[in-house]
Amino acid sequence: MKIMAVNAGSSSLKFKLFEMPEEKVITEGNVERIGLEDAYFTIKINGEKEKEVLPIKDHAVAVKKLLDELIARKIVKSLDEIAGVGHRIVQGGWYFEDSALVDDDVKAKIEELCALAPLHNGPHLIGINAFQKVLPSVPNVVVFDTAFHQTMKEEAFMYAVPYDWYETYKIRKYGAHGTSHKYVANRCAELMGKDVKDLKIITAHIGNGASLSAVKGGKCIDTSMGLTPLEGIPMGTRSGNLDPTVLSYISSKLGYTLPELIQILNKKSGYLGVSGISNDSRDLEEAMANGNERAKLALDIQYKRIVDYIASYYVYLGGADAIVFTAGIGENSPRMREIVCERLAVLGVKIDKEANNVRGKERLISTPDSKIKVYVIPTEEELMIARDVLRIAKL
Ligand code: AMP
Repeated sequence: MKIMAVNAGSSSLKFKLFEMPEEKVITEGNVERIGLEDAYFTIKINGEKEKEVLPIKDHAVAVKKLLDELIARKIVKSLDEIAGVGHRIVQGGWYFEDSALVDDDVKAKIEELCALAPLHNGPHLIGINAFQKVLPSVPNVVVFDTAFHQTMKEEAFMYAVPYDWYETYKIRKYGAHGTSHKYVANRCAELMGKDVKDLKIITAHIGNGASLSAVKGGKCIDTSMGLTPLEGIPMGTRSGNLDPTVLSYISSKLGYTLPELIQILNKKSGYLGVSGISNDSRDLEEAMANGNERAKLALDIQYKRIVDYIASYYVYLGGADAIVFTAGIGENSPRMREIVCERLAVLGVKIDKEANNVRGKERLISTPDSKIKVYVIPTEEELMIARDVLRIAKL
C-alpha cells in the first residue's frame, strides 16, 4: 500500500511517497513558493529531479497538482491506492505523547498550540486541511517533533522561573527533532544488535537546526531545545543559549524591540551571525580553509557547545553506550565529528579517522577499543512518519 509523508511549511509542501510495509521510497519532491504566480513543483523520477514553474494559489492547489502528477506519471493508477497520509507537526505541546489520528479535536489542539510555534503549526494545519479536501476518505495521521521528549522528568523540562508561568502558560521545555532522535536511537540499537531498552545513547542531530538528546532505554530523558527551537547549541542562524540580559542591554544600546531581538536570535545569529558569511557549514569550512578566522570561530563555538552537551548527558545518563551523529552536518562533516570526538577522549571515545571519512552513510566510526561506540546514521524522519501512519491508522 502507498503512504504519503508530508511536511507542510508556510509556502512549501514537501512529500515522500512510500510503498509500505516494504519501506520503499516510490517518489519524492516538493512544492515551493505556494501563493505565487511562479511557484514551482519538483519531483524526483528514477533519481532525476524534474521541475515545473507554475502559479499555485494555495496549499489545496499544491496537493491537487501533486496528486494529478502522480496519476499523469503513472506512479499511481488511481488515488484510491494512497491508503494514508502522515503529517510532520513541530509542536505537540503537553497534549501529545505519541502520534495521533486526525479528527476535529486533534486539529483544535494543534491550532491552540500555534501560540508556541506560529511559523510551523499554522502551515501544518493548512496542509492537513488541503489533503482532507482532496482525499476526503483517506486517514491523516499527525507525527509530532515534540512527542519523543514527553518522557523527560520535571527536573529536566522545567525552567527555574516563577512556577505560575508553567501552571498558567505552560512555559517549559518541549524539545524538537524528536522523530529524528527516536529513529537514530532505535537504529543504533539495531546496528549494535541490542535491545534499545538496555542502552544509553546520546543522539546529536546537527543540521541547520540542531539539537542533542539523552536517550535511556529508548526514552528521552533530556534534550537541548526548549520551549522553542532557539534553545541549545548555536545553529545555522540561531544563537542557542545565552544570558537573557543580553537582550535588555543590546536593546538599550541599539533600540530594538523584543520581537525584533528574538527575530535576530532566530535568523541572524549562529554561524551566520558570528561569521558574517553564511549559515551553511560547507561555506564556513571552505572560508576557514582559506584563512577566514571568523568562519573558524563560528564553527569552534558550536563544536565546544556540542561537546558540553554530550559530556553533560554522559553524566546524566550515568555513562553512554553510543553517540550518534545525524542530519546535514552530523552526516556530512567528518571535521566536526573528529574535533568533537577528540575532545571526548577523556570519556574513552576513540575515533577511527579513516572510517570517519564518510558522508551520508550509515557507519560505525569509533575504533574497536573505544569505550563508547560512535555512529553516523542518516536520519529518516519521513520513514518514521510513514511507519506511524500504519501503526496509528491501523492499516
Ligand atoms: P539539514 O538542516 O539537516 O538539511 O542540514 C543543513 C546543513 O548540513 C548545512 O549547514 C549544510 O552545509 C550541511 N550539509 C549538507 N550536506 C552537506 C555535505 N555534503 N557536506 C557538508 N555539509 C553538508
